[in-house]
Amino acid sequence: MSDRHILTAVAWPYANGPRHIGHVSGFGVPSDVFSRYQRMAGNKVLMVSGTDEHGTPITVAADAEGVSPQEIADRNNRIIVGDLTGLGLSYDLFTRTTTANHAAVSQEIFLGLLKNGYVFPQTTLGAISPSTGRTLPDRYIEGTCPICGYDGARGDQCDNCGNQLDPVDLVNPVSKINGETPRFVESEHWFLDLPAFAKALGDWLGTRKSWRPNVLNFSVNLLEDLKPRSYTRDIDWGIRIPLPDWRDRDDKRIYVWFDAVVGYLSASIEWARRSGDPEAWRQWWQSPDADAYYFMGKDNIVFHAEIWPAQLLGYNGAGDKGGSPGSYGALNLPTEVVSSEFLTMEGKKFSSSRRVVIYVRDFLERYDADALRYFIAVAGPENQDTDFTWAEFRRRNNDELVAGWGNLVNRSISMAAKNVGAVPQPGDLTDADRDLLATTSGAFGTVGELLGRNRQKAAVNEAMRVVGEANKYLSDQAPWKLKEDPARRDSVLFTALQAIKDCNGLLSPFLPHAAQQVHELLGGEGTWSVAPRIEEVSDLDDGRPYPVITGDYETGQAVWTSVPITPGTPLQAPKPVFTKLDESIVEEELRRFEEGS
Ligand SMILES: [Zn+2]
Repeated sequence: MSDRHILTAVAWPYANGPRHIGHVSGFGVPSDVFSRYQRMAGNKVLMVSGTDEHGTPITVAADAEGVSPQEIADRNNRIIVGDLTGLGLSYDLFTRTTTANHAAVSQEIFLGLLKNGYVFPQTTLGAISPSTGRTLPDRYIEGTCPICGYDGARGDQCDNCGNQLDPVDLVNPVSKINGETPRFVESEHWFLDLPAFAKALGDWLGTRKSWRPNVLNFSVNLLEDLKPRSYTRDIDWGIRIPLPDWRDRDDKRIYVWFDAVVGYLSASIEWARRSGDPEAWRQWWQSPDADAYYFMGKDNIVFHAEIWPAQLLGYNGAGDKGGSPGSYGALNLPTEVVSSEFLTMEGKKFSSSRRVVIYVRDFLERYDADALRYFIAVAGPENQDTDFTWAEFRRRNNDELVAGWGNLVNRSISMAAKNVGAVPQPGDLTDADRDLLATTSGAFGTVGELLGRNRQKAAVNEAMRVVGEANKYLSDQAPWKLKEDPARRDSVLFTALQAIKDCNGLLSPFLPHAAQQVHELLGGEGTWSVAPRIEEVSDLDDGRPYPVITGDYETGQAVWTSVPITPGTPLQAPKPVFTKLDESIVEEELRRFEEGS
């Protein structure tokens, strides 16, 4: 058993609406599988995230509804907290970016960068709407890409060639809000000096051998074209710029993306303050032995493999201009940026605005959380874009969860409950018995090695292969034919139940809800897999109440090793752990989808 400190830094969902299953397949479920495994293996995990609540889309939604941006953020924060808790995602703290704590930490990072000379002021051309006089944010300007000629490029980025853009460079720019041509006027901003980190970022990426190759290649390619990037925006919704002549200005704020990534640190600090040991976050951020894994979809790699590491390097005084760490002291860079590809939906890209979407809360109204968690683990977009289809979801659920794992649990425990009423006392074990138990207990090594490297698809496939071995053993030994030999029958059933106990451990990171049920079906008491809970808190500094996700995960019994079952433990006839899905759900769901899109 090891006791490494592991930070699981999970991408911050933007507070513009409920989460869909494409979102949670990228950042949500993989980060939770990883964290649950690491806790079972004895490591000290701190899993943090929250809702990202600043930026233009929130202000546009607020204007459209005639409410304040904070009202939009409050509503969606609460919805998203419900979505993620429903999936059983075991955050130590899921908070938000509109807390006083987050603002203070974001301003400290800005000031640390400024002190070391990595942010500097510059006058640029910013777009305004001629009809309203208001600032027009980059992503609300559309035009032709100056690099590849694509005619749907946004002011911040071209989705066709992937280049970061400046709206003033777009050919024929128009406002997406009202179609008018923006006017460009001079505006003063603070810039992050990204070129000053080219060498430090390159050196760091050069040591990142364990990353998924596509993520590492993408990150290295980003270094070829580093330009200073605006740290601030013309907007009245966001974190104030902590400088004498800027702090009180109502038209300038820190850029939403630059404060969102600071959230990993601010949430860790908030968690420590709530835990009663305000310095506790340092074990995950400053210990040289600590590791930090960042989980996200591939559209966010640039902010986690370039921008956030540059902010950290600058704060530490480790770019070309040198310097010294800010008041927190030097902070650790990511160990690994674990990025998933995209999940499509019946062949189309998920899009809330085009209503190509399955919301998490709708899904959880009709299906079990573990059924979705399993699909994402076994068939999700770990290494390539992957399509979600209802037919495949149903097939995986019925053939693998119900007929594979559920059936092994159900028939073994039923037979033991009916014939013995308890975990049977085994006699001498045969070679076949010992072979199976060697396989199931040995799998903690193989599956754990894969989970430690975030090869989750291979890990769940290996766990399910072991379930298949146990099912084959049960069919071969056929304890239902051993009425005349109860001693041998009991040895077979004991072996099957011990194999189930082991398989349940192997599957616990993927299927935490089912794992708790199987634990109880085997006569176990107390909590095996701890579920997250929602707690209403007040902000530490300004007293505004909001919901956070947290949990006492160290109180669970789940461990990453074979746990012996005890003969004589009473057993009841089991209820099915998984629900078989009727063929009709495929058509029903497709009809819902067609009506929606
Ligand atoms: Zn382009």
